[in-house]
Amino acid sequence: MALMTGAEYIESLRKLKTQVYMFGMKVDNWVDHPIIRPSINCVAITYDLAHDPQYEDLMTATSNLTGKKVNRFAHLHQSTDDLRKKVKMQRLLGQKTASCFQRCVGMDAFNSVFSTTYECDKAHGTNYHENFKKYLTYVQENDLTVDGAMTDPKGDRGKSPSQQTDPDIFLHIVEKRADGIVVRGAKAHQTGSINSHEHLIMPTIAMGEEDKKYAVAFACPSDVEGLFMVYGRQSCDTRKLEKDADVDLGNKQFGGQEALVVFDDVFIPNDRVFLCEEHDFAGMLVERFAGYHRQSYGGCKVGVGDVVIGAAALAADYNGAAKASHVKDKLIEMTHLNETLYCCGIACSAEGYPTEAGNYQIDLLLANVCKQNVTRFPYEIVRLAEDIAGGLMVTMPSQADFRSDVQIPTKSGMTLGQWTNKFFVGVNGVSTENRMRILRFLENICLGASAVGYRTESMHGAGSPQAQRIMIARQGNIAAKKELAKVIAGIKE
Ligand code: SF4
Ligand code: FE
Repeated sequence: MALMTGAEYIESLRKLKTQVYMFGMKVDNWVDHPIIRPSINCVAITYDLAHDPQYEDLMTATSNLTGKKVNRFAHLHQSTDDLRKKVKMQRLLGQKTASCFQRCVGMDAFNSVFSTTYECDKAHGTNYHENFKKYLTYVQENDLTVDGAMTDPKGDRGKSPSQQTDPDIFLHIVEKRADGIVVRGAKAHQTGSINSHEHLIMPTIAMGEEDKKYAVAFACPSDVEGLFMVYGRQSCDTRKLEKDADVDLGNKQFGGQEALVVFDDVFIPNDRVFLCEEHDFAGMLVERFAGYHRQSYGGCKVGVGDVVIGAAALAADYNGAAKASHVKDKLIEMTHLNETLYCCGIACSAEGYPTEAGNYQIDLLLANVCKQNVTRFPYEIVRLAEDIAGGLMVTMPSQADFRSDVQIPTKSGMTLGQWTNKFFVGVNGVSTENRMRILRFLENICLGASAVGYRTESMHGAGSPQAQRIMIARQGNIAAKKELAKVIAGIKE
């Protein structure tokens, strides 16, 4: 099958019987639901841009499995050039959506499961790598979106999976049959789960023998029997339900999506199983997936950052403050921070290396440094954007007030719309509505629905800051650095 268009992708979702719940109720037509649809539009653009000759080089690649052209989101990286293009593609999509476009979790899962299954088979004589190659060929041939899912709910953070009071807090194998396995548990805050065709499940932490039932990786369709999802709510989400919702949304077309994905005894056939109790490989899978996704943030968040910087500069123009030297300096600082993140994304890609299975892995230390910076810099970028925007970003009346023809009973007889437009105008030649639009966009990115994908996701997505610090400690090689100092200082012990 040829690469799908965005419209074909959206139509393909209608064939799924994925069970979705939101606000305490089942949502039958989740494809057209106004709260969910922006996240679907986001994934759709990953399909559309693959058909645009201008972006073909970034958005597509040649599959090492089939020799055919595939969407880069379904590709196994074959070189450091592929790794760099991945980051550039993510920056491009961040620029086009100002949001989380969700499809990267699958791409990062493909690459980590591919290399880990190869090494697991070598150590244990299992057949997971062939299973996975067959599965990924199916994904590529059908141009599917797959949700790579790692994070379990975790319960008591001080206890391992098998020590939890409720054994389902971490997803685990409940039964092993001749033809497959049965799994139970959940994955929490899963990006892009509802609008994915398939799910690729991985363990969430390194595990010992006592936790082997939890060391499981597999794939299943999103509408498999026994699986359902609960949509995660976002700040200001119900604005999308308002009549003629537009200006107040800030970003009308695009948004991210997270959900709780529950497995209540789901059967997985043997050929979709990629890890089954080989607990000694859970840690490798986690480390590789996290590494790839920490690289990803040096692309996607930079692209969104580009739009934030542009919006702040526009707000300054509309406020008449663009010439102020402190505003210019703040825009320079925002650019400096944003490009530093990009440097990290490119650096960990350029320093990538081939795995035993043949696909390319990023430099783990640099990818963790990348994500550690992402836990900080977008916060500073947002702080500066709010500084430039001014307080009106959070105090202005609604779109309905600006458009209202309700007559106010005062001397001049003007309408509510006339009054609000009169007092919230900025520089000459710019409509009040355009000024409102850019401020609402900044509100959305800094505090509203898109803040999930830019601010808080920068903190916790791809692992919270402490997870990177553990990896930086492991990879930092302080012992070798001590030796450097000893040699130069003339210390002989
Ligand atoms: Fe992709 Fe970034 Fe969203 Fe992760 S947070 S899925 S890397 S856009
Ligand atoms: Fe993320």
